[in-house]
Amino acid sequence: MKYYAKPLNKLIAELSKLPGIGGKTAQRLAFHILSLTDEEAKALADAITEAKSSMHYCSICGNLTDSDICSVCSDSARDHSVICVVESPRDVSAMERVREFKGVYHVLNGAISPMDGIGPEDINLRSLIVRLQESDIKEVILATNPNIEGEATAMYIARLIKPAGIKVTRIAHGLPVGGDLEYADEVTLSKAMEGRRVL
Ligand SMILES: [Zn+2]
Repeated sequence: MKYYAKPLNKLIAELSKLPGIGGKTAQRLAFHILSLTDEEAKALADAITEAKSSMHYCSICGNLTDSDICSVCSDSARDHSVICVVESPRDVSAMERVREFKGVYHVLNGAISPMDGIGPEDINLRSLIVRLQESDIKEVILATNPNIEGEATAMYIARLIKPAGIKVTRIAHGLPVGGDLEYADEVTLSKAMEGRRVL
């Protein structure tokens, strides 16, 4: 990359930090960006800056939102006594695509992974406990990913909240083991929710 001038090298270096973007792709993207009109390049830069400055976590569930409370939490037509616990905001949009779940969510923004040094205190779990204490919750559906971290997280949460007498269920394993919720098709996700079992 030493053949390129400094600003171009810098752009390539930043792009190559993105997930799934290797050196070659970063170069291709950088050259594409340079071929854009000034307006197009500015629109891209503005979209990044605006998304970064206006998006934050919902103060109730931890989902990404541009207001204080996300659209799901502020929807009075939904059943606020059923909470579906997921790992990431992308899982919320996967579940919402199915259009069958009428409850609300709690987004952990991570999963327990002792191997990576991520413990229960490192994910958005404390606020779930507060929600359970403060409102009348009928069921907590654990929809963490069907991999080692997701299972460990589900088991931890189940053990934590079951003594409070709240019904805790785990989504069924129609989902491919080791797979990610966000990549599951709608039928699989819908079946996984239908077949959930009480822990
Ligand atoms: Zn929310």
